[in-house]
Amino acid sequence: MKTVIVTGASRGIGSCIAKKFAQNGYNVVVNYLKSEEQAKEVAKQIESYGVRALLCQADVSNPLQVRKMVEETIRVLGGVDVLVNNAGISVSGLLIDMTDEQIQNIVQTDLVSVLTCSREVAKHMMSERCGRIINISSIWGVVGGSFESVYSGAKAGIIGFSKALAKEVGLSNVTVNVVAPGAIETDMMKNVSKETKEEIKAETVLARLGTPEDIAGAVLFLASDEASFITGQVLRVDGGWNI
Ligand code: NAP
Repeated sequence: MKTVIVTGASRGIGSCIAKKFAQNGYNVVVNYLKSEEQAKEVAKQIESYGVRALLCQADVSNPLQVRKMVEETIRVLGGVDVLVNNAGISVSGLLIDMTDEQIQNIVQTDLVSVLTCSREVAKHMMSERCGRIINISSIWGVVGGSFESVYSGAKAGIIGFSKALAKEVGLSNVTVNVVAPGAIETDMMKNVSKETKEEIKAETVLARLGTPEDIAGAVLFLASDEASFITGQVLRVDGGWNI
């Protein structure tokens, strides 16, 4: 049975990805930071599909905790076939108002975590000569969002990193791809006003906001055999926003 690690799987897009993989026969590592009760609920639902769930509290912005999470996954579930780097935070505001701590926290959580999680699983995947790394960026990492410059920079960093890593690990039969979501209805959008949501819908070809299911479907596809010749790519899942 295959194993997937989903970072930030307690809520929002990550919990939906975790359940989608479970429905498709994967054992799932449910990583979370603070939302323990929600993570436990996700794990319960995963086990109802007849696969194993490994709850793993780890701050992915901390490289030591990342190493422990990957070691525990391999010890308990026997390996890692797919890594989904989904955990992330978004802090809106003008760059000139951002504190050093805010900048460091965003970059460490949204970008450095992707580098360290990928490094730890790549060691294992390269020796197995098989693996999939799927990184969740954002449409802002592609086009840049004002009031989101630090977030946009971190998310653009994921794209450059993923293309470079794809080149490093391709000969080991490991693929690295990016999913760039548009506006998706989760807690991350809870401070976005109704008016702004209507504006986004009006700019979106499919005239709606996205759902976590929209993203989970794309991620599962990139992990599937059907995607075995796809690497170093950015798949925008945004309903045609800003095209
Ligand atoms: P969300 O609902 O706010 O959930 C964020 C998840 O990340 C939670 O499970 C949270 O865990 C986890 N997390 C945050 N910091 C963490 C850390 N240091 N270590 C481990 N886990 C951590 O966000 P979402 O909307 O599902 O977003 C998921 C991903 O999609 C993010 O990378 C985000 O940037 C990206 N994205 C979202 C949108 C959107 O419109 N929603 C658009 C583009 C891209 P706890 O709750 O346990 O702390």
